Amino acid sequence: MKYLNKSFSVENVRVEYLAKKFGTPIYCYSYKKLKKNIIKFKNNFKSFNPLICFSVKSNANLNLLREIRKLGCGADVVSIGELMIALKAGISVKKIVFSGVGKTTRELDYAINKNILLINAESKSEVIEIEKIAKSKKKIVNIGIRLNPNTDAKTINQISTGKKEDKFGLTEKNFIELVKYSKNSKYINLKCLSVHIGSQIVNNLPYEKMLKVIDKIIKKSNQIFEFIDLGGGIGIVYNNKTKKLNYKKYNISIKKFLKNHNSKIIFEPGRSIIGDTGIIISKVIYIKKTKDKDFIILDCGMNDLMRPALYGSNHRIIPVIKKNSNSKKTYEFVGPICESTDKFLTSKNFQKLKEKDLIIICDVGAYGMSLSSNYNVRPKPIEILIKGSKINIIKKRQKLIDLI
Ligand SMILES: *Cc1c(COP(=O)(O)O)cnc(C)c1O
Repeated sequence: MKYLNKSFSVENVRVEYLAKKFGTPIYCYSYKKLKKNIIKFKNNFKSFNPLICFSVKSNANLNLLREIRKLGCGADVVSIGELMIALKAGISVKKIVFSGVGKTTRELDYAINKNILLINAESKSEVIEIEKIAKSKKKIVNIGIRLNPNTDAKTINQISTGKKEDKFGLTEKNFIELVKYSKNSKYINLKCLSVHIGSQIVNNLPYEKMLKVIDKIIKKSNQIFEFIDLGGGIGIVYNNKTKKLNYKKYNISIKKFLKNHNSKIIFEPGRSIIGDTGIIISKVIYIKKTKDKDFIILDCGMNDLMRPALYGSNHRIIPVIKKNSNSKKTYEFVGPICESTDKFLTSKNFQKLKEKDLIIICDVGAYGMSLSSNYNVRPKPIEILIKGSKINIIKKRQKLIDLI
């Protein structure tokens, strides 16, 4: 993704052309970038050949999942719907893990029927429920148990999941008790210890601490785990203030850990695979001038991209057509939704815009479309995947008639 002759392009396709042809807003992804991310991720950890289960909640587009499957990944799902999409994308049940604190009986029943690789349980009640279903089917079910390692991921609070006050996983004491319980069960085969301490992690220390806690607890629990599922959470660079995780260091810590444990590593990356592959193309509807700043009112709102409203996150915004002009303006980019949190970014020196100009919101591949809604009865945008010069519509724009 770059400017070709001052016109922003995804691979060989000019974004301006897409806007003209399909209208705005558009979610647009680059296949080349996706492929590069997956190959890079694999290379970073190639010495221990992990199973990479893409986190479907970060992006549940069926066509993207098919591409991700072809590039060798499995899936981490958190609902029956995500499991169904992963299966429809052709992902092998041997590469699917099911996470989440509140799996219902129906969801567990479905997953057990499909014989997926692992159901990662997050409470004793859930293990008992799995056992009950397994017994009724005279089946032995492979499970993991999610540990809450009480590790601060040093990310924003809303996406931390590994501290003891978070709802996820089991505390050390409850984990060890549940390991014992599972050992004595005829219908449960405990194969995995899983963790996931949060998202958008760019600091190595939380991961190092997490590995130490796991090491200690495995020794205490006296159980051999065929799999250690380290979850996802690796951050990406959203703006020039974000740091980058040191993959080399993370790889070294895991290799050190594996010296004492003969387990297969599973990762559940979402954001680090898909985050920077996607952009939103949006059009300026109106410019509203005030004394201090000008509001740029876009045709894309928090219903299309929820992250800024939900977590206060900042996505870079750039113009589609770059202009050579020295006049820079202070702009607040907002959506059309009737909520004050419907704003994306304030930029202190943006090139001068006019109404109907096009802009790009960057790095929206993860938790963009998957968190979108029909709030204000607004149809969801079209999704397009670019492969070289080829334009693939991977999801049609919703029609008003579907909503009314
Ligand atoms: C959300 C989630 C992930 C993916 O997190 P990313 O930050 O997108 O890598 C992985 N595992 C579990 C259990 C999750 O809830």
